[in-house]
Amino acid sequence: MGSSSMQSSSSSSSSAGYDFSFKILLIGESGVGKSSLLISFISNSVEDLSPTIGVDFKIKQLTVGGRRLKLTIWDTAGQERFRTVTSSYYRGAHGIVLVYDVTRRETFTNLSEVWAKEVNMYSTNQDCIKILVGNKVDKDIDRAVSKEEGIALAEEHGCLFLECSAKTQKNVHQCFEELALKILDVPSLLEE
Ligand code: GDP
Ligand code: MG
Repeated sequence: MGSSSMQSSSSSSSSAGYDFSFKILLIGESGVGKSSLLISFISNSVEDLSPTIGVDFKIKQLTVGGRRLKLTIWDTAGQERFRTVTSSYYRGAHGIVLVYDVTRRETFTNLSEVWAKEVNMYSTNQDCIKILVGNKVDKDIDRAVSKEEGIALAEEHGCLFLECSAKTQKNVHQCFEELALKILDVPSLLEE
């Protein structure tokens, strides 16, 4: 802290076991699978995907692009039911995962109409990286939003894009790794 070195103040020394520390947020309508994605990513497990009210945050260390990263991933803990999340949730975020459910169209439209606006209003890092994530692709038979629509919305909002399944773990690690890799590309996000 207080150091003027090139390293992030939150990155700390190598004795801490990582090079950079990033704050990542999960955003999206209730029931899209935010907590499940987090559990799936953290625990490498697909068992016990019961509805959750969510946790405050979980920490995962991993190596991406040759850098040792500490990701602190924040979950909304059910606040999103009120269609808003407290502004402090967004403070200092390096990356935001915008989640919808590919089987529920309103969760997709609400990302534009509700959540993208809130993200723009409260994000303190103007350069923070966003990834649009269509979850529950294991339920392809119930699909209500095409992949092409997802790609188009991501382009409109300048986000990365992936479809995934917290249940089968398809693309779950990729979501967080692609986001982290992109954050590493933005010098302003690596300084504090
Ligand atoms: P949140 O409100 O966004 O945190 O959503 P949850 O993680 O609590 O998930 C809501 C419901 O969707 C739960 O019943 C989960 O088991 C289910 N769910 C989450 N992800 C998936 C998925 O990828 N596939 C399927 N089939 N169900 C999922
Ligand atoms: Mg939840």
